[in-house]
Amino acid sequence: MTQKYIMALDQGTTSARCILYDKKGKQISTAQKEFRQIYPHSGWVEHDAMEIWSTQIGVAQEAMLKIGCTYENIEAIGITNQRETTIVWDRVTGEPVYNAIVWQCRRTAGFCDELKEKGLADFFRKKTGLLIDPYFSATKLRWILENVEGAYDRARAGELLFGTVETWLIWKLTEGKVHVTDYSNASRTMMFNIHELRWDKEILELLDIPEIMLPKPCPSSMIYGESDHKLFGGPVRISGAAGDQQAALFGQACFREGEAKNTYGTGGFMLVNTGSRPVESKNGLITTVAWGLDGRVCYALEGSVFISGALIQWLRDEVRILDNAAQSEEIARSVPDTAGAYIVPAFTGMGAPYWDPYARGAVLGLTRGVNRNHLVRAAIESMAYQTYDLMISMAEDMGEPISAFKVDGGACQNDFLLEFQAGIMNMPLYRPECIETTSLGAAYLAGLATGYWRNTDDIISNWQIDRRFEPEMDEFRREELLDGWHKAVSCTLGWAK
Ligand code: ADP
Repeated sequence: MTQKYIMALDQGTTSARCILYDKKGKQISTAQKEFRQIYPHSGWVEHDAMEIWSTQIGVAQEAMLKIGCTYENIEAIGITNQRETTIVWDRVTGEPVYNAIVWQCRRTAGFCDELKEKGLADFFRKKTGLLIDPYFSATKLRWILENVEGAYDRARAGELLFGTVETWLIWKLTEGKVHVTDYSNASRTMMFNIHELRWDKEILELLDIPEIMLPKPCPSSMIYGESDHKLFGGPVRISGAAGDQQAALFGQACFREGEAKNTYGTGGFMLVNTGSRPVESKNGLITTVAWGLDGRVCYALEGSVFISGALIQWLRDEVRILDNAAQSEEIARSVPDTAGAYIVPAFTGMGAPYWDPYARGAVLGLTRGVNRNHLVRAAIESMAYQTYDLMISMAEDMGEPISAFKVDGGACQNDFLLEFQAGIMNMPLYRPECIETTSLGAAYLAGLATGYWRNTDDIISNWQIDRRFEPEMDEFRREELLDGWHKAVSCTLGWAK
């Protein structure tokens, strides 16, 4: 019998990766390649869409070559991707008309301000679950249509196509035969009605976006089409797609309402499964489609921390009190507390639940006894406090506490962080053996569509725990620390106004 693997394509912000997974969810082969970041102006970020494609297909072929497998060994392809990034291309030639405008790009901030000034925040939130922000695709797409010569006319004539990154990759993989988006990616465009699961006509009209150029919204797990024969020597089914954070929620097997995952990377991303309920946030969180599977849609609440592991990077590269990130754990443990110091890493403002773009970073509570070790500890603690704030916002919005909390991302290897996090949240945390939850989630979505895995129970039994972190903090201490944190945050708000 031929061994079969699922191919996960993980198209991230800085690199393309490919991982082949087996039935147990174990990695059999991996390949990765970075691509160029293009910064044409301050605050602008672009990628070359052709490079996104060439690096992605390159690592896919490389991962197969490494273990000498053929297309017949690949059961199906699942895709996960950087979200919101916007690509427009020619339907016939496949040529992008402009670089991919990356999610981080702030070029449409002025236009977003105009929309907010017109009092449209509620209008967009009710339909799309999102806040008006340059982050999301709609205003980026509009920018391309307005600024690339002839683009509007060509789009209206049906000559141009729009896609987020999974749409682009599926279109390229199928040689232009399939133009689809999955619900989780569509729900990040600010044009998608997350209740009706279709492009919102009123929004398209308001933003003047021709519907003819939009992909067909589809569930996250279904056979979208087959890859072109030339790419792998024979056809392979493409049968799963989800945005990176939603894929991670899936890879963490957070299938039940109330189950949450937090990713500690450069920034932090927390998502909680809210089941069939799209929960509207009163705390500045985002309502999003988690995935469409088996004829149902699952929703999630999402919150992000702008500076999480990036604070450790900053201590290493700018302040130079660390040689490497991992060292932060040992240093933090060398002192019993921070001697009353707090770091608020509001380098680019504060997100949920504060939403203050004018907040700036600060170290508070300094006294003569505070040394390097205390500061490193305060940095790690700040990662936990910010996550705590998100969790409280989510629980408030849902009207019930979070039932399970799973962690992943590069910084979740820091045991001190997770011990402190469990204490501050006063609940246990779970770290899985496989912290590559994003690509794993995409693999699972693809494999469920073809019967490689029968159902989500198969996935739950694959999810293996590495360590459970227990809350071991005294209640009085916990409240004292949280009071100090909230006081510290309040000192940073409005600073840059
Ligand atoms: P991303 O995918 O966002 O680029 P990763 O998930 O690879 O990030 O995580 C890298 C981040 O985690 C970096 O910001 C780094 O400073 C931080 N980090 C990595 N290891 C540790 C650690 N042991 N303790 C604290 N932070 C860490």
